[in-house]
Amino acid sequence: MIDTYKHKGQRLKLVSELRQKGIADETVLTAIEKIPRHLFMDSSLEIHAYKDQAMPISSGQTISQPYTVAFQTQLLNVQKNDKILEVGTGSGYQTAILCELGAKVYTIERQKELFDKTQILLKKMGYIINGFYGDGYLGLPTYGPFDKILITAGAPYIPEQLILQLKVNGLLVAPIGNTNVQIMTVLKKITESNTEIKEHGSFIFVPMLKGKA
Ligand code: SAH
Repeated sequence: MIDTYKHKGQRLKLVSELRQKGIADETVLTAIEKIPRHLFMDSSLEIHAYKDQAMPISSGQTISQPYTVAFQTQLLNVQKNDKILEVGTGSGYQTAILCELGAKVYTIERQKELFDKTQILLKKMGYIINGFYGDGYLGLPTYGPFDKILITAGAPYIPEQLILQLKVNGLLVAPIGNTNVQIMTVLKKITESNTEIKEHGSFIFVPMLKGKA
């Protein structure tokens, strides 16, 4: 769990790269500057940790590209004490970003091996989260409703269960599409029965799959 001056310098460079690519939310950039992304990856890949690239983690999954993490987090417009549901804990890097922004984070992962590993890591790093091994398509009905919901895997559609677990005025951010490409989608819940949808360009995520593994 070593974070050196070299890593810190690499993070500053990454932050300026993200700023150039259009990320303007300073709270998000500060969180990226602070969090040692290399600790969320296998040590053999550490030299790539501060490139703006997705990288493999265990169970055939990926840690999302820093730009994608920043872009999704910016769209989520996180406020202190927001109650947020994250679908797809993966490496836990995005989870840590949400914690740094002062959110109360509930996160679900369907891969048992990844779930176990990430719970231990986040705890060791001092992040207090509510982690669940389960299927994100179902959300967490007993813990909702949430101010915000973030899906970090490519979903074929927005699961109705998740819209039900969103507060009125809440936001859901999710990449929606087929397995090749998804459109970053922001759903705002206007009333209990009305939603408004905006789209924000193409991304590529690993697929959101049903059930547990
Ligand atoms: N935010 C993570 C993204 C990891 S990739 C990071 O940056 O590390 C997406 C993750 O979503 C994978 O770990 C995958 O196992 C998980 N996932 C896919 N379908 C899911 C589902 N239905 N419920 C919960 N997690 C799911």
